[in-house]
Amino acid sequence: MAWSNWSGSVTAAAQIARPQSEDELAMLIRSAHRLRVAGAGHSFMPLCESDELIVSLDDLAGAIHVAADRQSARIPAGWSIRRLTAALWEEGLALANQGDVNPQSLAGAMATGTHGTGTDLGSLSTFARGFRLVGANGEAHWCDADTNADLYQAQRLSLGLFGIATEIEVAVVPAFHLAERIEKRRWSEIRESYDELAQQHRHIEFWFFPHSDHVIVKTLDLCDPCDPPPSTTDMDEATFRRILDIAARLPFLTPFLQRAMMKSGIAGRRRGPAYSIFPSDRTLRFEEMEYEMPRAAGLDALDEVVGWIRRKRLPVTFPFEYRVVAADDIWMSPMNAGPVAAISMHQYAKMPWAGLFAGAETIFRGAGGRPHWAKRHTLNRADVAALYPMAGRYTAVRRAADPAGKFLNPHLEALFA
Ligand SMILES: Cc1cc2nc3c(=O)[nH]c(=O)nc-3n(C[C@H](O)[C@H](O)[C@H](O)COP(=O)(O)OP(=O)(O)OC[C@H]3O[C@@H](n4cnc5c(N)ncnc54)[C@H](O)[C@@H]3O)c2cc1C
Repeated sequence: MAWSNWSGSVTAAAQIARPQSEDELAMLIRSAHRLRVAGAGHSFMPLCESDELIVSLDDLAGAIHVAADRQSARIPAGWSIRRLTAALWEEGLALANQGDVNPQSLAGAMATGTHGTGTDLGSLSTFARGFRLVGANGEAHWCDADTNADLYQAQRLSLGLFGIATEIEVAVVPAFHLAERIEKRRWSEIRESYDELAQQHRHIEFWFFPHSDHVIVKTLDLCDPCDPPPSTTDMDEATFRRILDIAARLPFLTPFLQRAMMKSGIAGRRRGPAYSIFPSDRTLRFEEMEYEMPRAAGLDALDEVVGWIRRKRLPVTFPFEYRVVAADDIWMSPMNAGPVAAISMHQYAKMPWAGLFAGAETIFRGAGGRPHWAKRHTLNRADVAALYPMAGRYTAVRRAADPAGKFLNPHLEALFA
């Protein structure tokens, strides 16, 4: 059966291998000409694409080991965020932050700099303390800040270029509970108060349908587990699906449909263990581009893109998502120049997206943005070199780790070979 990513925009006719042990994995790597490792296939870019071999770690045996000081845990790299956060909870532990969904593998999420939202919270890659990797020659080795330090620095956001991670040491925190609040607010009001709100809440994000004057704001804050559960009102996904299907047939109706939809009341309250409150279900398939903007430039860039969409009455059917991520020091991280505002642009998977993303990408690039590596972008090798001072060192480490280019595919070869 052909491999496909989550959105259906990347397919591959490769053979799929599911090794059950590290020895089997090593044998596969030794005998392969070229291969890619895939996690849950949630990347929109063709990172996992291969016409030869795709390796899945779904069947690889492994267990979680919590360090004696309870500040970190070694976790099988192919475990999903869902599985590992449930296992950590049993140990009284948690990840300090998570993204929107949790089916991604730990290794896949870290390999692309996957992040959640929070003024002072970094991406999942910043939680990585060390990696056990099976390299291009089939040998397993460990890397961390002291051992194989350059390999570790590159591997923190690796795009799967340096070997196949089988175990990752991850920073963890004591388990905590979160209260979620979702509400509809006027865009003008949020535009004014966003920076203040971002300081007030542990996590904040908003969704912005570009043809509406309202946004949907979601906050998450620490709460007392003994508080009674709040009454909840769910957002109506069935209605949204119907609206998207009408827009797919009659795109010119998009502005009208969006304004009508945002007239309805939208509110939600939940409370519970953090690992169960962070993720949402995403059943409607979309394609996505995301740019990480210097924090101070984020809201202006969003205004500019939304203004362009409104002027041209473009059928952008999904909302923009606006989040904040802390700065880091990871070689290929779009957060390594300072704190960012992450702006995600989505389009219903049944509708054209490439032209719309291209127009917005020009605006985001013009305002100093750098793309999320897993989401649609059109960077070329010269762009990568210009945007990332450490790109040369990253590429040199890649060449040393994989001289024959076993872990390359056409997309990655064009950027990093
Ligand atoms: C519905 C949805 C919601 C999302 N929400 C967010 C979000 O909130 N925040 C955010 O930042 N991103 C988000 N993303 C993007 C997603 O987190 C990334 O695409 C992530 O990389 C997906 O993890 P995966 O396990 O599916 O990896 P894949 O897409 O399968 O692979 C990604 C990369 O990881 C490499 N890789 C996988 N396993 C290994 C391994 N064992 N060793 C070495 N390399 C490996 C692959 O080779 C590839 O280069 C979302 C995507 C979708 C579809």
